[in-house]
Amino acid sequence: MKVLISKRVTVFSCVAIASVSILSMLYAQQRQGRPGPQFGEVIPGFAREQLDLSKEQAQSLELLEASVREKLAKVLTAEQVEKLKNPPPPPRFGGPGIPAPQRRQQVDTTPDPTPGPKLQLGGSLATVTDPKSGQWFTTSGAVTEGILGNHKEEVSGRGFKLSSAPSPDSKNTPSGMASVMISGLKPAEGRWLKVRIQGLAQEGFKVDKENLYLRVDYFKDKGTNALDFVKKSIATQVENYRKELVDEGTNQSLGNASWHSFSIQVRTPLPEIDSARISVGFGDGAGATDNGEFWVRELEVTPIPDPSDYQRPSKPASDQNPPALASLVKISEKWFYDPRGGDRKVPDTFDQTNADRLFLLTDRLEAPFANNTTAWLRKGYYDAAGNVVTKERFVPDSVVIKFTSDHLVMKAKNLPNHPTAVFPDRSRFLDGNPGAIGEQNNTWYIPLRPSLNPKPVAMKPGGGRALPMGAIGVAVNGVVFYNPFDADITDAIWRMDRCCGHPGPNSTYHYHKYPSCVNTPWDDDGTSHSPLIGFAFDGFGVYGPYEGNRELAKDSKTNPLSDFNLHSDEARGPHYHVTPGQFPHIIGGYWGVMETKNRPRRLFGLME
Ligand SMILES: [Zn+2]
Ligand SMILES: [Zn+2]
Repeated sequence: MKVLISKRVTVFSCVAIASVSILSMLYAQQRQGRPGPQFGEVIPGFAREQLDLSKEQAQSLELLEASVREKLAKVLTAEQVEKLKNPPPPPRFGGPGIPAPQRRQQVDTTPDPTPGPKLQLGGSLATVTDPKSGQWFTTSGAVTEGILGNHKEEVSGRGFKLSSAPSPDSKNTPSGMASVMISGLKPAEGRWLKVRIQGLAQEGFKVDKENLYLRVDYFKDKGTNALDFVKKSIATQVENYRKELVDEGTNQSLGNASWHSFSIQVRTPLPEIDSARISVGFGDGAGATDNGEFWVRELEVTPIPDPSDYQRPSKPASDQNPPALASLVKISEKWFYDPRGGDRKVPDTFDQTNADRLFLLTDRLEAPFANNTTAWLRKGYYDAAGNVVTKERFVPDSVVIKFTSDHLVMKAKNLPNHPTAVFPDRSRFLDGNPGAIGEQNNTWYIPLRPSLNPKPVAMKPGGGRALPMGAIGVAVNGVVFYNPFDADITDAIWRMDRCCGHPGPNSTYHYHKYPSCVNTPWDDDGTSHSPLIGFAFDGFGVYGPYEGNRELAKDSKTNPLSDFNLHSDEARGPHYHVTPGQFPHIIGGYWGVMETKNRPRRLFGLME
């Protein structure tokens, strides 16, 4: 295997040296004034990613690049060098790109209005069609439905756009609402509902008086008789995310806004209530004319079990509402199955039909796989056979979970279940990444009882070999984590899309940092310890950014994170946290012994 690697690197290096000037020109065309491949850079980041360079090779490459820069400076005039270093911005669309990988056919990048907004209803809930529009939703005021953003930049699908910018011809401050009428509430069977949206506040979005909200209106007599409503402001949460989770490195061309979940949990106040209107809305708009919208792409309404009979095993962490521990079936020390009064036999597999009944016990019960087991094969992706997808396809089993005595086994197709940038990045909104997103066929083995690594080594910001290239862990939606580098030299984070991922040369979409778009069963609103978002391959869990109420784990003084991004508490044991805006972003090294079953395929299937 070593021979193979060095052979490949040698060959690539020779090619690279021979075509330095062509590459330099490509880079110059590519840069568009954002941080990117530098003057004289020999191998671009996305190519480095597949090479798995050793430290020595990385250093040699740096020397090589220094000498290339020196030689270029002799060949070119000072003016030409300056031009290469600071090229004039090319046209926004359709400029020259780096050719797509040859082994597969060309990707069709024509506009693709994807279906949506996405609505997910649990239990016996159903939508009531609006008689005026014939749609399942209504919009009013400065709220419209349509494609979110620029479909050439990002695949966000359709959704609701709440426009906070005052229009010049109106005296009123902007306000508006998107609503869906839900029938089929059965308060006799349970009175708790969870409403969750996935939303993104563009940089210019602003409201006064915290007037951005989720609202639930209750009705009886089949929706004709209005009774009461509850409302929760999510404006502060938007502002908190802007302050706390800012990451200058992510996709500057799209702004630094990112997708997050927002939710409200309500108890229907009266037993005769049979329907509800669920709304997301705003008032007192004070936004900018550019990028002044709040986008909503996903709306979920689910009946949830009554929280009152649940005794938390340790200190109360949040207002979450999992079912009573006593009624659950134990799978392992930390994993439980909720039979909901039915057959107590644990199912062989967990997928979209029952993932919301698989619970992890921390200082509460979490259902990390709920709403994370399905995805869409989007137009332009590669399917499992390596063909370009021309028609959007629902994938009902993108993640399937099984338990053995030693492992949580995850079969994962590695398909993002959230917005992504458009790949291949022909328009170079990022770094010109030529890869597309492709369906994979992965099986990951997560140890149920991690053992401590006798010689743990943490990565250093300059590189180091503590974590290999390729997958080092996996998020609960089946998308893999990589380390912070696309090669040992380059910090990869600015190459990411707005959900903090991008595809590698083998079409594997992956995260290098906090993937804020991964669904967590409840919203991670920064008022308590973040939920589980994935696993490192040593079996220890990876949690979201928060340690407690308005306290990021990276800032914790009482329980600080180590260089591995790890600390320990009573309920979770040793666990990793993502650190937005701070190296090493996801994990800094394996604190436990890495499960070797996960490694043979690490080099993209090429090296086996
Ligand atoms: Zn990468
Ligand atoms: Zn923690």
